[in-house]
Amino acid sequence: MEKRISGHTGLMALFGTPVGHSGSPAMYNFSFQHDGLDYAYMAFDVTEEEMPKVFESIRLLNMRGGNFTMPCKNIAAQLVDKLSPAAEIIGACNVFVNDDGVITGHITDGVGFVKNLELNGAPVKDKKVVVLGAGGAATAIQVQLALDGAKEVNIFNIKDKFFERAEGTKAKLAEKCPECVVTVDDLDDKAKLEEAIKACDILVNATIMGMKPHQDVTLVDKSLFRKDLVVADTVYSPEKTKMILEAEEAGCKAIGGVGMLQQQGAVNYGLFVGKEMPLAEYQEFQK
Ligand code: NAD
Repeated sequence: MEKRISGHTGLMALFGTPVGHSGSPAMYNFSFQHDGLDYAYMAFDVTEEEMPKVFESIRLLNMRGGNFTMPCKNIAAQLVDKLSPAAEIIGACNVFVNDDGVITGHITDGVGFVKNLELNGAPVKDKKVVVLGAGGAATAIQVQLALDGAKEVNIFNIKDKFFERAEGTKAKLAEKCPECVVTVDDLDDKAKLEEAIKACDILVNATIMGMKPHQDVTLVDKSLFRKDLVVADTVYSPEKTKMILEAEEAGCKAIGGVGMLQQQGAVNYGLFVGKEMPLAEYQEFQK
């Protein structure tokens, strides 16, 4: 590293709080070094209130790009110069790219999710997709599915504070992606859920259920799994959730959340430097 940093090295960074646990600096710095790119990636612990100063710094230090994490994703979308179509619909961004002083905000959770499905042989175009959840990850996925040509997105969520967000996503998509049919229903309406799963091509869990400490929970009865159903989970800890294990047993194409995480990183790297991230090499390095 000490041989790599010079007077020319460009800065990239993650902003949010907390950031100390983040794997992003290790992954991007490995990739820059691997690709011979003169950048360094840091993580800075900042609050929402400090974000206007963060943007002054991004401009002053001429940072090429970076990431925003909670709780700074929404305020960041108000401070960038331009937004990607998905970031505009959602009103949040987790990535910024600075092109000669013009800062564009992107949201890549949904892009990474769809890319991972495609890499696993499950394209979303013209497909009917049931998405469980209406939080941050679920919303990004729902918007990206609609932008990428899914025929239907059936959102199911419990009647908590996120239910209203699902209604908002439906309204925004009706305006921005009118060709995609979006429905919103109560996750506790088991008859409706069963009907939707029987008619869909892809089922996605984008709730916190299945994630530690809810690892013994699955929201879908395994009797609904059939061989031609693709079952995807956003949860990556555990790597294989109860839902994914039961889907595998039933012979479904079952896709866990780790790939989404990796593809999101790769999409971000592509936006920063216009190159494919050396993901396989990084995974090898981590072993
Ligand atoms: P969030 O807090 O924004 O949303 C939580 C969601 O879980 C809401 O839809 C909420 O209604 C639902 N929920 C909470 N309790 C529930 C219950 N008892 N029954 C049913 N639903 C319930 O969270 P988020 O940031 O969107 O994260 C959601 C999941 O996505 C997490 O498991 C997270 O690990 C995963 N995620 C994965 C990636 C990845 O790259 N693989 C990225 C982001 C998030």
